[in-house]
Amino acid sequence: MTDLRVRIAPSPTGTVHLGLCRTALFNWAYAKKRGGTFVLRIEDTDKTRSTGESEAAILKGLAWLGIDWDEGPGETGGPYGPYRQSERVDRHTAAAQGLLERGIAYRCFCSTERLTELREAQEKAKQNPRYDGHCRDLDPKDTAARAAAGEEYVLRFRVPEGSTEFEDLVRGKVKFEHAEIDDWVMVRRGGAPTYNFVVVCDDVAMKISHVFRGEEHLVNTPKQILLYKALGDDAPRFGHLPLMLGKDRKKLSKRSGDTALGDYVANGYPREAIVNFLCLQGWALDGETDVFSLDTFVENFDIADVQKAGAVFDIDKFRWLSGDTIRRMSVSGLADELVPFVEKAGLMTADEIHGRRGWFERLVAGEQERIELFSEFPARVSPFFEADDSVTYDPKAEKNSRKQEARLETLAAYAEWLAGRPEDEGAEALGAASKAWITDRGMKIPALFQPLRCALTGQPGGRDLFDCISLLGRAATLARIGAGIERLA
Ligand code: GLU
Repeated sequence: MTDLRVRIAPSPTGTVHLGLCRTALFNWAYAKKRGGTFVLRIEDTDKTRSTGESEAAILKGLAWLGIDWDEGPGETGGPYGPYRQSERVDRHTAAAQGLLERGIAYRCFCSTERLTELREAQEKAKQNPRYDGHCRDLDPKDTAARAAAGEEYVLRFRVPEGSTEFEDLVRGKVKFEHAEIDDWVMVRRGGAPTYNFVVVCDDVAMKISHVFRGEEHLVNTPKQILLYKALGDDAPRFGHLPLMLGKDRKKLSKRSGDTALGDYVANGYPREAIVNFLCLQGWALDGETDVFSLDTFVENFDIADVQKAGAVFDIDKFRWLSGDTIRRMSVSGLADELVPFVEKAGLMTADEIHGRRGWFERLVAGEQERIELFSEFPARVSPFFEADDSVTYDPKAEKNSRKQEARLETLAAYAEWLAGRPEDEGAEALGAASKAWITDRGMKIPALFQPLRCALTGQPGGRDLFDCISLLGRAATLARIGAGIERLA
């Protein structure tokens, strides 16, 4: 292990966001390639919004993506634990106390009303809202006495004059004038610490060497660097990953509802496709190759190659990647993935699938080229699960069939011919023989195929017709043709 230590610090508030998954992947790959350590720290400082359920979902989601962590909460543990911020409160309190004693932090007693009035006045004067330093120079002895007497206060960080500059590993040189930075709140009334404060305390304690996170945190970085300095520690290297943008070029947000990992899993995007797609959100292998494995990503990923510009979340490309992944799967592997979708649609139970595995795999094989998402499969094969006398006819399929004037006679003659053929005849042989049967009778292909397809599956198109016959079996095929002769009359 090297001294390279990266981390992600997700807040367990709600669903597992794709942005978090991308940040995790980039950090994880960076550490993995370089023999570093990848730390998972749960940032549950927001007590009202954090839930154990959400934390469990994050752990499960990351593991599902194939991301493992070297140190983390619970059983994983590690030398710098605990890895849940809520369990590190004593450390945070001690750090705040130290900063207060050194005058780096100060107590501010300004009431919410005063701060609201201040902000409103600043907004009216077209100034950027900021704290005016009202309590900055109060005598520490007096403030200690007021605090001891029970007066409520927040702790603010005393931002010095000057500017902060750093070399962002993605964005290059970044500079912030301190005049633009407030004396920000480190600890709220009642003692709850803020993100900017605890994140630094914990990154210092956990010896984090590189911080790669979303660009939305860039504004926090100068505040954090000042705090590292105050704590006497070297700041880590920072790399801010580009925002993930919707097609409207606005930041993808939880609110827009299309960012939860679970939704993509439920919609049947394969794991490999999700991982592959996330790798492409701000990074490219060579500008040409879109499809690559996680191993290839790890082998090639460097933070310096991450783009600055926002990464547009192209859902069409995502779907295409998904379909491409499906086409590259083994039939058996794809069949395994489809089991829960088929069960959920109520077509077959897992036990039934197990009992008819060979048949199920043939069902799957016929759709492998046609689906882009696992979730598309049940609707495509549902005709095979309908009652033989009431297959749903698509209006288009029915219309095409009715165009064939001799449809009823043709279906009847074909059924009679089919009944005399061996049941175990393969789809290919039956197809060839059926075509010869059509030619011998001086007919055109659609004269049989249109009404036959309608009778068997009710669909205007789809998988090979003789594959359908073979999947249905002789009895069901003949029953469906019989029903078709009545229904298409
Ligand atoms: N809890 C923060 C987030 O989820 C962590 C940001 C950071 O990595 O510093 O956005």
